[in-house]
Amino acid sequence: MTLIVQKFGGSSVSDAASIKRVARRIAETRRQGHEVVVVVSAMGDTTDDLVDLAQQVSPQPPGREMDMLLTAGERISMALLAMAIHDNGFEARSYTGSQAGLLTDSTHGQARIINVTPGRIQQALDEGAVPIVAGFQGVSYESKDITTLGRGGSDTTAVALAAALDAGVCEIYTDVDGVFTADPRVVGRASKVPSLSYEEMLELAAVGAKVLHLRCVEYARRYEIPLHVRSTFSASEGTWVSSERNPGGHMEQPIISGVTADLNDAKITIIAVPDEPGVAASIFQALADAGVNIDMIVQNVSEADTRRTDVTFTCPKGDLGRAMQALLDAQERIAFASLASDEDVAKLSLVGAGMRSNPGVSATFFRALADSGVNVEMISTSEIRISVVTRTERAEDALRAVHTAFGLDADGEAVVYAGTGR
Ligand code: ADP
Ligand code: ASP
Ligand code: MG
Repeated sequence: MTLIVQKFGGSSVSDAASIKRVARRIAETRRQGHEVVVVVSAMGDTTDDLVDLAQQVSPQPPGREMDMLLTAGERISMALLAMAIHDNGFEARSYTGSQAGLLTDSTHGQARIINVTPGRIQQALDEGAVPIVAGFQGVSYESKDITTLGRGGSDTTAVALAAALDAGVCEIYTDVDGVFTADPRVVGRASKVPSLSYEEMLELAAVGAKVLHLRCVEYARRYEIPLHVRSTFSASEGTWVSSERNPGGHMEQPIISGVTADLNDAKITIIAVPDEPGVAASIFQALADAGVNIDMIVQNVSEADTRRTDVTFTCPKGDLGRAMQALLDAQERIAFASLASDEDVAKLSLVGAGMRSNPGVSATFFRALADSGVNVEMISTSEIRISVVTRTERAEDALRAVHTAFGLDADGEAVVYAGTGR
């Protein structure tokens, strides 16, 4: 008998019929003799609808109240799912994140898990019941206020519980058949990847493959919890994410695991910065003090006669206002001429562990972009990733071109079973 944590995303529980389908699936797993802990997201687009509603009421809602509002979404789905499981002949009990022992820090909207004390969940299991836990929420161990883990955070709840309960596997049920070589909503010919290492999945999640929450993959790697990403709507095997890329297999690993386009970044250029030691330190200290997350950085070659240079970097769109203000506040000290910002950018990334040992990957990547007339504005690389910044309106074409150039196109169209992709 294995303990399995099963997480069902919003599109898996979007209406009464879907909730009943999920309940049957859980009952089936129980009938096969496994213990099951369920983590559930809010129904369909409930979380987005609540965010929209809050915006209509208040342009800058307090974080505490926002978290209280958003956690209501998961309370609805967990109770309904417990009812549907009862109708399948098993006892089920729903728990909020707080009741399930998810203790976090106090950062509303982006809380980090500090400890998991799943005593009530273990007790429910011991008594033969199916515990259903509300995803993406916890309680601050300091303030005792309700917190959320950030959008998409139910995946992280599931892995945190899997680690705390020593589960054999964490299954992430969603609206596609697994992790694909590109978002199947954008690249119809995306191929399902049978297995990925934590390292590859971390890079993919970090550069915008939203099928898994980044922190869920970090957590899974730390506690070595195997993840199985699969569809709620079909019985087919999904994608395994574990410490081995190709468990038990003998095939040479593919060079590329996937391509992504991330539209959540903005670009800032600091114009005519003095080209002397210490200036970059002042710039990035000012940004760090303002809590701005920096991604790519480029400095132009200084023109000999002016001894000034331009520094360009990207940061999340949500940090743009704070970044601009922090730089303006430090303008006199840093002595730059002016600032320019641009939200119309996309970050296109190519990820694959096989890149390390295969020459020619960059050449193929930039050739594909050039042939489809895509201009590259910034470049950054890691051992297993190349990212470029391009115009937003060219991002989808660029994604498809690169996908084709690396031979990743499948013979048929990928299936997207449900969801609005919001
Ligand atoms: P859930 O509500 O189940 O958590 P999400 O919307 O968070 O589902 O994640 C699933 C979606 O992730 C898919 O519908 C798909 O559009 C998107 N996606 C982005 N990149 C990928 C990828 N590389 N592989 C699979 N899905 C991806
Ligand atoms: N319901 C939350 C969201 O939409 C959490 C999740 O689905 O993972 O972000
Ligand atoms: Mg998700």
